[in-house]
Amino acid sequence: MEYRFKVDVPGYIYPTGRAGKIFAENIKKGVVVASRCDECRVYFLPPTAYCPHCFNELRDYSPVEAFILVAKTVLDRGGEKVAYGYVKGIVGGEETQGGFIHRVDPEAEPGEVLKPVLKPEEERRGIITDIEFFAKAD
Ligand SMILES: [Zn+2]
Repeated sequence: MEYRFKVDVPGYIYPTGRAGKIFAENIKKGVVVASRCDECRVYFLPPTAYCPHCFNELRDYSPVEAFILVAKTVLDRGGEKVAYGYVKGIVGGEETQGGFIHRVDPEAEPGEVLKPVLKPEEERRGIITDIEFFAKAD
């Protein structure tokens, strides 16, 4: 016996919040920003609106100057090598707390400095996939 039915799922809305909005506005311009807690002396990536340590509201956003590959894995997708890595940001010589899991250059090794390769400006939507992948910074 076969049963068929239809389920209506309401549209899902994820509010980005203040920090997400600032991140989106900046990445559209090609700039990745981190938020800063002066009290704890920590940069957060992706930026957060509040410090998870002291709960201060964060209003200081700074461009991430470089990215460091922390770890990576390479997957074989039907013969094509696709590498995913965990990258942290560097702002003012300090490593960000948090980072991104994203596509990276398969030749990059942990500890290397990477740079984001962004989609053309007219194709950016203010989301993390505006970054196509992280390339070696040489
Ligand atoms: Zn704090």
